[in-house]
Amino acid sequence: LVSRKKKPEDTVININGDTFGDGKNHFIFGPCAVESYEQVAEVAKAIKKEGLKLIRGGAFKPRTSPYDFQGLGFEGLEILKQIADDYDLAVVSEIVNPAHIEKAVEYIDVIQIGARNMQNFELLKAAGETNKPVLLKRGMSATISDFINAAEYINSKGNGQIILCERGIRTYEKATRNTLDITAVPILKQETHLPVMVDVTHSTGRRDLLLPAAKAAIAIGADGVMAEVHPDPAVALSDAQQQMDIPTFHNFMKELSK
Ligand code: PEP
Ligand code: MN
Repeated sequence: LVSRKKKPEDTVININGDTFGDGKNHFIFGPCAVESYEQVAEVAKAIKKEGLKLIRGGAFKPRTSPYDFQGLGFEGLEILKQIADDYDLAVVSEIVNPAHIEKAVEYIDVIQIGARNMQNFELLKAAGETNKPVLLKRGMSATISDFINAAEYINSKGNGQIILCERGIRTYEKATRNTLDITAVPILKQETHLPVMVDVTHSTGRRDLLLPAAKAAIAIGADGVMAEVHPDPAVALSDAQQQMDIPTFHNFMKELSK
């Protein structure tokens, strides 16, 4: 279903007026995790200033250590819903449990399926049974073929509104958090008709590489870029090393628009 051979024309997904897959650049910014209404609102204001229409933020955080901040759960989704209403932004948030999907779709506009859950087939099927767009991230050890098959799971249940997101893969290289597989973008665009984004935050794990990675993503034909923005990254409860503060975010957008 997701194959370009079956459907030659690009799938365009309209989220709050942002049309992913139309050949233009789209952006998804927001904090790694929802920590408080005020924290997300500060980022929402900055996003609105840039004329953007979506915000991201994790309420259920799949952390490597069980002792790290796990997210605010449904309380976090309530904050995001409030932000969506107050700032007229569509909300992208990760869901990790198939049993949460039915309730979660009352709060969010786009279901994010994270790298660690790319092959959680029950979660993929549950997302496929909704009518919400799904942002599917590539597993850190997934081949492109595994990734496309994961998207197929979602589409097989009837939901074809899928945005693919390359977010770096595990290699022996330690200079970056993951290795951004930039050529995955044109390969995914050739093999599927789905929009393809690049998450520059989790792929590089380095603030100094966010802008060059975003330029590369756009140059190679990505439909959009995702990055994390936090009002005060130094005190962030997750991913403190790699989130942009608000002035850096405005500069990022200015540099990219060149
Ligand atoms: C995220 O985007 O919040 C996230 C956890 O990313 P990934 O699943 O790509 O690690
Ligand atoms: Mn993060």
